[in-house]
Amino acid sequence: MDFKLSEHEKMIQRTARDFTERSVRPVAMEIDRKCEFPFELAREMGSMGYFGLPYPPEYGGGGAGYISYVLVIEQLCRAAMVAGAIIGVNSLAEESIFRYGSKGQKQRFLVALAKGEKLSSFAFTEAATGSDPRAIETRARPDGDDYVITGQKQFVALSPASQVAVVFAREEKDETGRLSAFIVETSSPGYHMRHPCETLGVRGLCPAVIYLDDVRVPKENLLGEPATGYGIMLEAISVGKLAVAAEAVGVGQGALELSLNYARDRKAYGSPIAELLSIKWLLAEMASRVEASRWLTYKTAFLRDQGAGITKESAMAKLFASQAAVDVTRMAMQVHGAYGYMKDMEIERLYRDAKLTEIYEGVSEIQRVIIADHLLREKG
Ligand SMILES: Cc1cc2nc3c(=O)[nH]c(=O)nc-3n(C[C@H](O)[C@H](O)[C@H](O)COP(=O)(O)OP(=O)(O)OC[C@H]3O[C@@H](n4cnc5c(N)ncnc54)[C@H](O)[C@@H]3O)c2cc1C
Repeated sequence: MDFKLSEHEKMIQRTARDFTERSVRPVAMEIDRKCEFPFELAREMGSMGYFGLPYPPEYGGGGAGYISYVLVIEQLCRAAMVAGAIIGVNSLAEESIFRYGSKGQKQRFLVALAKGEKLSSFAFTEAATGSDPRAIETRARPDGDDYVITGQKQFVALSPASQVAVVFAREEKDETGRLSAFIVETSSPGYHMRHPCETLGVRGLCPAVIYLDDVRVPKENLLGEPATGYGIMLEAISVGKLAVAAEAVGVGQGALELSLNYARDRKAYGSPIAELLSIKWLLAEMASRVEASRWLTYKTAFLRDQGAGITKESAMAKLFASQAAVDVTRMAMQVHGAYGYMKDMEIERLYRDAKLTEIYEGVSEIQRVIIADHLLREKG
């Protein structure tokens, strides 16, 4: 067992930390206030190579692996979760195309995404469901050399910025009701975005309702085989959950750092509050939970780098790290007292951001079901 990062990974971590202080922290509050997609920040992250870290250079990536991927997301989220979340959401389509796309699809779509020249969305959720694939109503009808897709998708993140979306729909004639996955160019006639929803936290991620009004998609844009979309979604989202776990670690670490600084500076009864046992307890709890989340996340990334499936491990990492992020930001708020509750304090934003990690890319309840099903299968 080796808990050391390689020299290359340490360099990527250091660079991401510097980038975060130089380019993310200074704009974090403004992105939150405006609740608009941060195009300039996304462009800078693209030029740093952050959208292609795990993918091979032949497909526009950096070939740096999934450990580097989580290290970068963690660093970015110390200052603003939205920055890491943009990378995480973008990698859902990237991962789908990388694992299931044809050589032509990879050249046509993945290269531009990994280089950060284009961004992508992942459109699974609908008004009636985000958890139950059987309730997906979007339809794909074969018509000559095309599919014609009709339906409505809910909470599609990155919508104002994405040129490509992986869309899940069921073929009209498929009696089994199984889903297929399609690569859709968002400039296609009939692909319409409604104004992005205003969110509690992670503002700037811009989830929006997407209308698919008879969108024509060439048959060559079908990902994998017909009716295999659910498997594609599960595989892509296993990396998405790894990203969410890294986001949670970053938010927790950011909250811990702010709390340590505040506890050293803030005085009560003539001494820093850091000397109070109650504050020490909070700091110790926070640090322990962040550290445990970090190693669960790194281990999952390590397994992915070995080529392993990580459905169970990423569910565990997301479940644990997201709970920890919510708990740690709540404790950090307590350390900050009334000042933490003020809009101009960073901790207030981290507190709001953390909650999303328990919800998107599968709520915690679903992660528990996935983990338990795996455990029961392993025992059987
Ligand atoms: C900011 C944001 C960005 C998002 N981005 C995207 C995106 O880019 N693409 C996309 O497709 N979706 C996206 N989503 C949607 C998100 O992934 C779903 O909302 C999420 O998976 C939950 O689905 P739901 O809201 O339909 O919850 P529901 O399925 O309605 O569940 C509601 C609650 O019921 C309980 N529950 C549900 N199922 C079970 C179960 N099997 N066992 C036990 N309890 C259960 C849980 O308590 C759950 O919280 C985004 C959401 C947000 C908020």
